[in-house]
Amino acid sequence: MASMTQNPDTVPFLDLVTPHEELEEELVSVFRMALRRGRFSGGSMIARFEADFGMFCGTTCCVGVASGTDALRFALLAVGIRRGDAVITTPHTFMATAEAITQAGAWPEFVDIDARSGNLDPSKLEEFLEKACWIDAKTGCAISKRSGRMVSGVIPVHLYGQMADMDPILALSRRFNLKVVEDACQAHGAAYFSRQDDCWKRAGSIGDAAAFSFYPSKNLGACGEAGAVTTNDETIAAKIRMLREHGQNQKYMHDIEGYNGRLDAIQAGILSVKLRYLPVWTEQRREHARRYGQLLQVILEIQRPEELAYGKAVYHLYVVRVQDRDALQRELTQAGIGTGVHYPMPLHLQKAYARLGYAHGDFPVAERVAAEVLSLPMYPQLTCEQQDRVAEACRGHFQRSAGLRVAGAVSL
Ligand SMILES: *Cc1c(COP(=O)(O)O)cnc(C)c1O
Repeated sequence: MASMTQNPDTVPFLDLVTPHEELEEELVSVFRMALRRGRFSGGSMIARFEADFGMFCGTTCCVGVASGTDALRFALLAVGIRRGDAVITTPHTFMATAEAITQAGAWPEFVDIDARSGNLDPSKLEEFLEKACWIDAKTGCAISKRSGRMVSGVIPVHLYGQMADMDPILALSRRFNLKVVEDACQAHGAAYFSRQDDCWKRAGSIGDAAAFSFYPSKNLGACGEAGAVTTNDETIAAKIRMLREHGQNQKYMHDIEGYNGRLDAIQAGILSVKLRYLPVWTEQRREHARRYGQLLQVILEIQRPEELAYGKAVYHLYVVRVQDRDALQRELTQAGIGTGVHYPMPLHLQKAYARLGYAHGDFPVAERVAAEVLSLPMYPQLTCEQQDRVAEACRGHFQRSAGLRVAGAVSL
């Protein structure tokens, strides 16, 4: 059901009202409990959410922090990335992935993506490590020829809710001595079948550490800002507990300099409530993706997202690719259908990273994908009627533009 505040003829890109209407009593009672206890920072609501979310991801440790960006930055610092190191990631991601690298004092090195998933391409990672690096004989570490820096880590991003191909990435990381921090900010509950270990693994349980965001629009979203780091390494978890709280080990005893990066107690309570619904919401997203697939398959101009056989995607976003993306987006906007572009400019071409010295053409796949992606409405409460309306508007657009092309040809 669309919410009361929305025009029933439109399809919003995102609906953050309906799910909270359903949960209003439970969520308000979290706030009421915090008020009555006067407990807004630290305490049992945080400990409980950390235990719940660690269990959900299949990791022994989970540390709540203030945002996904903090989670990434703290994870890099805690796994041992040092000032001046280089960390590899994909140029086709949200800005925060690269910001975390530079804010941890390191230098981003980009590697191009697999066109099917939009995720870091393991074969290009291998090529980068073998051909664009030399091996320091003393340490055995890879040194980037481009930046002259020691490559000490990699951040695979599980973009749109589909996991990066982790087996070959982990094999390369072992071979070249890289720390692996998963950016799982869009992949709560996504799964990966490891052929290496012959078992399913959840996003966030595979690297040395992983970062989650609970920004309101994420699959598991707070009513404000929140994030978490998951890991199976108690030493890394302990380091993150220090980093989030000014480097303190016990009250006013600071072993290192840290940050104010704590998870808010009320958000933790809200997240515990919402986590119980996440498996159902994920199945709804997957069902919507299946149905979009059926509705859109007749439109040959639209390339639907591909779910790779190694995993189970959680469809944070439903991202199609089309040649003339901007025209389709304009048309959908006029039809009252909300869309998004994730993301229109790859990070290596961002003004903020001019100093990295990349140019157009450096990552051709990421550049092509950025020009073609369009995110259609996707959320658990999306209705069949809304999906039909989206598909109908897409069909209308391509019929009209084909008609225009034919008419243009005739008039020649
Ligand atoms: C949302 C997101 C982040 C940052 O999370 P915040 O909670 O907004 O700081 C990082 N990486 C990716 C891929 C994201 O989608």
